[in-house]
Amino acid sequence: MANRFNIGDLEVYALVDGKATVDDRYMNGVTLEQWQPHKRWLTHDDRLELPFTSFLVRSGDKRVIIDCGLGPIKGGGYEGGAMMDDLATTGVTPAEIDVVFVTHLHADHVGWGATRDGDVLRVTFPNAAYRWTAAEQEFWSGDLPPQQIARRDIFAAVAPHFEPADGGTSLAPGIDVVAMPGHTPGHAGVVLSSGDQRAFLLGDAIACPVQLEEPEWSGVGDMDPALARRTQEAVAKEIEEGNALATASHFPGLTFGRVLRGEGKRYWQPVG
Ligand SMILES: [Zn+2]
Repeated sequence: MANRFNIGDLEVYALVDGKATVDDRYMNGVTLEQWQPHKRWLTHDDRLELPFTSFLVRSGDKRVIIDCGLGPIKGGGYEGGAMMDDLATTGVTPAEIDVVFVTHLHADHVGWGATRDGDVLRVTFPNAAYRWTAAEQEFWSGDLPPQQIARRDIFAAVAPHFEPADGGTSLAPGIDVVAMPGHTPGHAGVVLSSGDQRAFLLGDAIACPVQLEEPEWSGVGDMDPALARRTQEAVAKEIEEGNALATASHFPGLTFGRVLRGEGKRYWQPVG
């Protein structure tokens, strides 16, 4: 059952596709000893569980999906495939989705962009505009570094439905794109605004809440760690100062939280 939240008049459902289980070295150059004060973010056997979270947001009669999981793939510590069942529990069908916004084109965010039908891949959300930043589209259309896995099969299937959406673009009333580069060149998050409430969906701008306490730690997936950390600092400051809610694709618990401060450090406190 998808977790439901209200941000003012916006209805938000957190959908989960599955998770990746990775070891404690996921944070570049960080030793298990350095993890000791932060063990609450690790499993009992010192691993990190990263759920693949997507969001369905209803704004008036518009329905927007933000990120679409890994898709029905298992292996190497990665397990996906549950998102469409979670979506069904909301009562919204794939054909009713107006916009699919993807924060960045890593394989664990575009997996359900298209679905296999015999020999062909068809868009999973047939009436949706598929949107991400122009910089992201350009990067993934070019020659890639060898460690980057591109879902070119999915990109090809959704290409006729693609419309760029850069920072500042409104996807629907109260649902706006915010540029958050660094994890990938065109990575972007979303801010939800209604009445006096704001909530940030950070994509992979911050991989794990531990990074709010240890702002120098970078996940192995960050393509430009220095830029990613500058982006993180800017959004964390904005969330903290604005008393906004925030969550990210791989934060635990399928919930929002607040960015608070204690002993001079920021930390993420899940709500409810
Ligand atoms: Zn990711």
